[in-house]
Formats: sequence, structure tokens, C-alpha cells
Amino acid sequence: MQTIHTILKTNFGYDSFRSQQEEIIQTILQKKDTLVLMPTGGGKSICFQVPALYFEKTTLVISPLISLMKDQVESLKANGIQASFINSSLKDSERRSIIADARLGKIKLLYVSPENLIAGINTWLNEIEIDLIAVDEAHCVSMWGHDFRPEYTMIKELKKKFSSVPIVALTATADKTTRNDIIQQLNLENPVIFSSSFDRPNLSLEVMGNKSKKEKTKEIIDFIRSRPDESGIIYCLSRKETESWSQILNEYGIQNRFYHAGIENEERAFIQEEFVKDNTPIICATIAFGMGIDKSNVRWIIHTNLPKNMEGYYQEIGRAGRDSMPSITRLYFSYRDVVLLSDFANQSEKKEVLVEKLNRMIQYAESSSCRRRMLLAYFGETISENCGNCDICKNPPEYTDGTLLAQKALSAIKRTDEKISQNTLIEILRGSKTAAIFNENYHQIKTYGIGADISFKEWQHAITEFKNLGLIDIAYDDHMRLKITEFGNLILFDIKTIHISKYEIKEQHSQKKSTKKETFVPEPLSAQENIFNKLKLLRRKIAVELNLPPYIVFHDSTLHEISLKLPKSESEFLEINGVSALKLEKYGSEFIALVNTFLEDNRPKLNTFEETFVLLKQDKSIAEIAEIRKLHETTIFSHLAKLVSDGYSFEVNKYISQEEVNRITQISNKIEHNNQLKPIFEALNEEIEYGKIRLALALNEKV
Ligand code: ADP
Ligand code: ZN
Repeated sequence: MQTIHTILKTNFGYDSFRSQQEEIIQTILQKKDTLVLMPTGGGKSICFQVPALYFEKTTLVISPLISLMKDQVESLKANGIQASFINSSLKDSERRSIIADARLGKIKLLYVSPENLIAGINTWLNEIEIDLIAVDEAHCVSMWGHDFRPEYTMIKELKKKFSSVPIVALTATADKTTRNDIIQQLNLENPVIFSSSFDRPNLSLEVMGNKSKKEKTKEIIDFIRSRPDESGIIYCLSRKETESWSQILNEYGIQNRFYHAGIENEERAFIQEEFVKDNTPIICATIAFGMGIDKSNVRWIIHTNLPKNMEGYYQEIGRAGRDSMPSITRLYFSYRDVVLLSDFANQSEKKEVLVEKLNRMIQYAESSSCRRRMLLAYFGETISENCGNCDICKNPPEYTDGTLLAQKALSAIKRTDEKISQNTLIEILRGSKTAAIFNENYHQIKTYGIGADISFKEWQHAITEFKNLGLIDIAYDDHMRLKITEFGNLILFDIKTIHISKYEIKEQHSQKKSTKKETFVPEPLSAQENIFNKLKLLRRKIAVELNLPPYIVFHDSTLHEISLKLPKSESEFLEINGVSALKLEKYGSEFIALVNTFLEDNRPKLNTFEETFVLLKQDKSIAEIAEIRKLHETTIFSHLAKLVSDGYSFEVNKYISQEEVNRITQISNKIEHNNQLKPIFEALNEEIEYGKIRLALALNEKV
């Protein structure tokens, strides 16, 4: 029986599991229902694909998005795994043939859309033997179960029908409501729940403050030019803007396309395909673009406007760097965006929530504390260290101890039973004499007026920082009341301290940033970038031949590792992450040849003596060296003489015996020769060749 580790290496080319993957797989192998909450790019697929190969029978994968299904099946097939899908894109005959294969147990992973699953639940599904059911993008089930597509509640039938088959549900959506809903909708039995951090450390987070359109354009053009051949997405607020950004890039000779929901379906699919296949590097798009795209080598995301909320922002930047390679995300925002977005929000029925969510987005953009801390805090996760990979960490503002301020605020929240909103809190702290305060008798609590020495604006800044650091939460569904988190309690009770950015410094900081200009200076490529580009070209050539997206041939991360380790042989190539047995067989020789040619071309240039020296070190005889180098043996001997004079060390006695050296020495001492070889040669009765004579003289000189 294969172990899950050998399955991982042979079929996927990976050496080790990422955090949690192994525990998740073990749980599935024990036939327990499992719920996996993991961010995009975290490696969810391996969690059910490895068990699928471990189990004897078929694994059924329910997947809602046709493009994702196709992508995963192609990836699996590229690794030699028997996988197929059934969805509405298939012809009847194709569908029948896949079902026939499945009945014969020929398919390890069978992907089905929910519609096809429901249609098949009482027909063809009866005849297929199943070991595991995986529900990918499981949050969709929760959406469908309600207003979206009520017929999907049928999915509940699965558990009844296959009561002994474990179900694993996987999603990148973390909130509690969805989580519980998935469990309910799928009828999971005491599921084991795995929830990983939603952090994506390989994504850098950058926010660019208020800029003129001209500055913004220049920065974006410079940015793209400094990253030739990289894939990226420029997100825009409106359809019109996608077209105008696309036009701007065209004017600068940058290849790109625009994409929005107003474009015909067929054309949209085409644009998407061109992007996935690396034929179009850049897409200017509305947020309609990206759903259902699994492209692993998107290297950067630029938002030209503020997103509507943190959820959307997280999802959009999440489309970069799925292969875990460093990727850049950059957000531009201006107060014009804020006005526009506020208008949208205010017109909605859910106005209150939308406005508050927008406010959190604005605070994120304006914040002067670690962006990642803030992003994760928004999703209920606290990290104890600053990230080091956001603009604030890289260019930090000045910080000050904020513990006392926080304690004043938190204690006021506590004394009002967590019933107040931010404005009321500030009024209490500043001792304001408003009707709202007197009506609730807030002027009688102990903390009333303890923060009167600080301006309203400065309190706003401090409270924003407290929210961002995860000390307090806002209850969106409960009049925006402020609630103290567990971490907040640690501050309140003096167990931990915090630092917040200084209020005044923040303005200076943003000013400093806005005047900073990034200029584009093309730099010559390093040898490693050079080989990386060559590897990309080879990957592309293969991808075109096979009509596959390049990242299905190899991820960028695999090419990157090749460019660092330069594997020269099959065994070295197999060591690279992402090289499975089949990929070694299919692409190995071409990539290894490329590496060897590269190594050959980049070998330090040797002079003719050194070339000979290398061969001497390989234990070659003079005759062999002469043969290889197409030179006379005498010449090779003269090389040896030169090497001796220059102090290279090798075993000289392999090429001339001590006896010969002695004879030559004796003669040369006796006769007058002025470094001429001929008199010595003749005095030796022409018994020792010229080359050896020269070598012996060199040896004598050395002593
Ligand atoms: P998700 O479905 O969670 O978004 P994927 O399953 O697509 O994530 O995996 C994201 C990337 O990580 C893919 O490129 C995948 O090949 C890679 N990956 C997954 N598990 C491992 C592992 N154990 N070692 C190396 N790379 C991995
Ligand atoms: Zn940071």
C-alpha cells in the first residue's frame, strides 16, 4: 500500500505537506466528515486528491464552477491521474462515455456540477462505487440552499444515500454563519473542523494615498514596465474605466485587454482563456473578472480605486500568488472614490451595513499600522507581530505607547455594557455635554471626561487603531455598538500593552509618501533571471503544443526552484517541488537539456592551459587530452610545463618519471643550452621527446 507521502511525491511532485494538510488527510482516511476552511492558495485540493488516490474506489468531487472544474481535471491529467468531469458543457455522448468509465472503476476523481449531481442522484450515481465525496467551494452550497437556487437543497440527499461515505467540504469563506450553514446543508455528521489562518504572507500589501490621475498613471506604467512578462490584473470601479485604462496602456505599448460584464459571453470566455494561457499578460477589469480563475501565476493586482469592502478587497488581492511566490498588491484610493462609493451605499436598502463596511475599508486605506494585522483582524484573526511585508512595515510611521488611551476607551465601553457606538464613546471620554449623554446618564460613569485633553479627531484616530489592532469589534447587526475582544480584555486588565501610530506623524507620513516618486530604470538581467525567462519560454512552447495553460505544465514556483538549483540530471530534477513522476517523464529531458546548455554557456571562461588542467584533474592521459583538445601531444606537454611554472598542483609523475627528470637534469646541467631544447634533445640521443624535456626544465626551475 502506498503511503500518503509517496502519493504526494509521485503524483504531485511535492516533498512535504503544508500545515494542516496531513491532519486533514488523516481525518478523511478515518472516514470522518470533515470541514476545511482555508484561504485561496492554501492547498485545499491536495486534501481530497491525495485521499482519492489512496482509496480504492472513485472520489466524487462536487464543484460549482465549470472553469475551475476543467482546470483541476487538466492539472490532474497532466500528472497522469485518471480524472474527468461531468457538466453542462459536455455532449451527451461524451457524458455517457465518462459514466461508462466510472462504472468500470476507471476514474479516480470524478468532478460533477451540482445540477448534474442532482440529475444523476437516482440514475447513474447508483452504479458507481464511491469512497469519498468532496464538496469544493462549499460556501456556494450555503448560498444555493437559500435564495439562490432552492433546488440545491437536494444535496442533502447525498448523505442519506451514501451514509457510510465520508464527506469533506472545503471553502475559503470563514464566517461562522456560512460554516454552520454548510454543515447543515450537507448533513455533515459531527464534522471535524479545520480552520487555517487566512493570512497570505506572500502577498505584499501596499496602499498609495491620494494621487492625481497623472501621477497614478505614471506610477502604474513604471510598475508594469519594471515587470515585463508578468501577469497582472488592474481592477477598476466601472466598465468605462476598464476601457480607459486599457487605452492608456495601449498608448504606452503595453499589451492588455479589458473585461467587464457588458462584453458578450463568448468574447469574455476568450479573454479569460488568453489570460490563463499567458497570451495576454494584463487585464483591466471590473471585479466581475477573476471568479473561477485558478491561474496560479498572477504576479500582481492593482486596484485603481478603493474597493467597496474588505471582503471584496481580500478576495481580489487573493487572486495573486496562488503558487505562494511573492506577489504584489497595490491599492490606490482618493476621496473622489469615497464620495462615489458612499453614494452607492447610501442608496441601498442595507445602507447602514454597507456604509459601515465602506468605513472600515477607508480606515484600512488610511491606517498607519501594519496592514496585514488590520486585514486579519477584520476577519477575526489576531497576529502578534507586524508583518514586515506591507508598506507601513517597510516604511513605518512613529509609534507611541497606546495602552493607557486604550484602557480609558475600553473601560468606558465596559461601563456602558458595550452598548455605545464610536461617537458616543468619544463624547463620554471627552466629557461632552450632549443630550444623548444626559439621557443615558453617561455623565455619571467614572470614565466620563477622562480623555478631555485629547481632540475628537485624535480619539477617532486612536479608536481606529484599536479596531485595527483587534481590541474592539463593531457589531454591524447591533447598531454598530463597540464590543471588547479577548485581546481587548488583555489590554484592559494590564496583561498586554500596545503601540499605536502617533496622530500628527501620520499626516507627515502620508505627505512624505505622496511626494516620493518611483522612476523606472531598466536593469540588466541577472544570470538567474535569465534562466528563469528561458524556462518560461520553454514552458510556454510546451503549453502551446499541448494546448494547456502554462502553469499546468509547471507553476512559477517550480520554474523558480529550477532556476536556483539548476538540476543537471533526472534525479536532481525529481527533487524539485512540483515535479511528479509523469512530469519528469514528459518534460524532464527538455528542461534538463536547457539547464545543461545554460550551464555550459555560463561556465567561467578558461584559458587553454586551464582547459588542459581540468582534463588532467579528470585523470586523462596526455594522448587522450591531445585527442579531446585536437592539439599535439607536445603542445599538451608545454601546457603541463606552464601549469607547473604557474604553481598548479597535479601529479606530475604520472606524465614523466623521476628517472627521466633526473636524466634530463643531468644533461641540461652539463651542456650550454640557453633554454634551447634542441641541444638537450640531441645530447639525450633523441630518446626523450621535446615535451618531457620542457616539463623537466619547468620542474627544475620551480625547485
Ligand atoms: P486552494 O484550492 O486552497 O486555493 P490549491 O489547492 O489550488 O489551493 O493550491 C494552491 C497552490 O499550492 C497550488 O499551486 C498547489 O499546487 C500548491 N500546493 C498545494 N499543496 C502543496 C504542498 N504540499 N507543497 C507544495 N505546493 C503545494
Ligand atoms: Zn505589515
